[in-house]
Order: sequence, then C-alpha cells, then structure tokens
Amino acid sequence: MPQGVAWIKDAATDIDPEIRSVALSSGGSVTYDYLVVCPGIQLDWDKIPGMAEAMESPAASSNYRYDLAPKTWDMIRNLKSGTAVFTQPSGPIKCAGAPQKIACLAADSWRKQGVLRDIRVVMVLPTPGIATRKSNRPPCW
Ligand SMILES: Cc1cc2nc3c(=O)[nH]c(=O)nc-3n(C[C@H](O)[C@H](O)[C@H](O)COP(=O)(O)OP(=O)(O)OC[C@H]3O[C@@H](n4cnc5c(N)ncnc54)[C@H](O)[C@@H]3O)c2cc1C
Repeated sequence: MPQGVAWIKDAATDIDPEIRSVALSSGGSVTYDYLVVCPGIQLDWDKIPGMAEAMESPAASSNYRYDLAPKTWDMIRNLKSGTAVFTQPSGPIKCAGAPQKIACLAADSWRKQGVLRDIRVVMVLPTPGIATRKSNRPPCW
C-alpha cells in the first residue's frame, strides 16, 4: 500500500450519498469526501444453463475464476489426445484476450509434449476473428 493509504479489508454493502457514507459488511461504516466505485464484473455462471455444474466437473474450467486456473493447467497437462474447446464469451468480460492466450499457451504446451497432432484445438469466438479490426472489443494481450 502507498504511504497514507488505508486498506479496509471489508465488503461495501451500501452507499448513502446523502451523508457520504459506505456501510461495511462487518457492521461499521466509512465516510468519504469523494468516492470512486470500481467493483469489477461479477461472474454469473447461472446465466448459462449447466455452466455452474460444468465448472465443478472434470471436463470444464475457466480462467475467469482465479481458483480454477490451476485446474485448467491440470487439464492441459493431462490431455494427450481428443478435442479441446476454448470459448470467448460474448458480452462484457474481464479480458477478451484471456481465452485466446490460454488456447495458444495450451497448444504450445501440447506441441512441446509432442501430442499436438493428436489434439483437435477449437477456438470459438463471438467476433469475426482473433484481434480483427472488426472486433467490437480490443484484446488485452
Ligand atoms: C485470465 C485473465 C487474464 C487477463 N489478462 C489481462 C492482460 O493481459 N492485460 C490486461 O490489461 N488485462 C487483463 N485482464 C483483465 C484485467 O484483469 C481486468 O480488466 C481488471 O482486473 C479489471 O479491473 P477492475 O478494477 O475493474 O476489476 P477487478 O480487478 O475485478 O477488481 C474489483 C475488485 O472489487 C472488489 N469488490 C467487488 N464488490 C465489492 C464490494 N461490494 N465491496 C468491496 N470490494 C468489492 C472485488 O473483490 C475486486 O477485488 C485479464 C483478466 C483475466 C481474468
């Protein structure tokens, strides 16, 4: 933390702009002069039927959930043949390049292991191509 900054390790549960106060899940509250709210994106697996269950299965993983990234690596490491499908979701996502990056890293790992020729790598995109000018969002490589 930079000097003069206090990190409040708590969750904001409510904001009252009238009295400039943020309520905390621990029960307390913090007042402010200026407030910048940047809560990121909430992953909502249930928007896609079966996706939450798929994440718990041995056949699917997502690097958008940081605790699942090691599972992705285990799946890549242990796959010696078959089909690997990588998907880039449509709609707001944290990083358009993330699914493309892991597809390239996985293919490179399979190439190094000498099994790439036995694995069909499929990349499903909502855009006309990878990092195309027609893409409606910039990749963040
Ligand atoms: C696999 C992957 C690879 C990526 N690679 C790149 C890359 O190479 N280059 C690049 O530029 N970007 C990359 N990104 C995207 C980048 O990580 C995000 O764009 C960036 O983290 C978004 O920052 P943010 O602050 O908006 O949200 P977040 O990083 O999601 O931060 C929001 C924070 O708010 C907290 N929060 C939410 N609600 C509350 C609440 N009520 N109370 C208190 N705290 C709360 C959350 O816990 C979280 O810590 C990648 C993302 C992923 C998933």
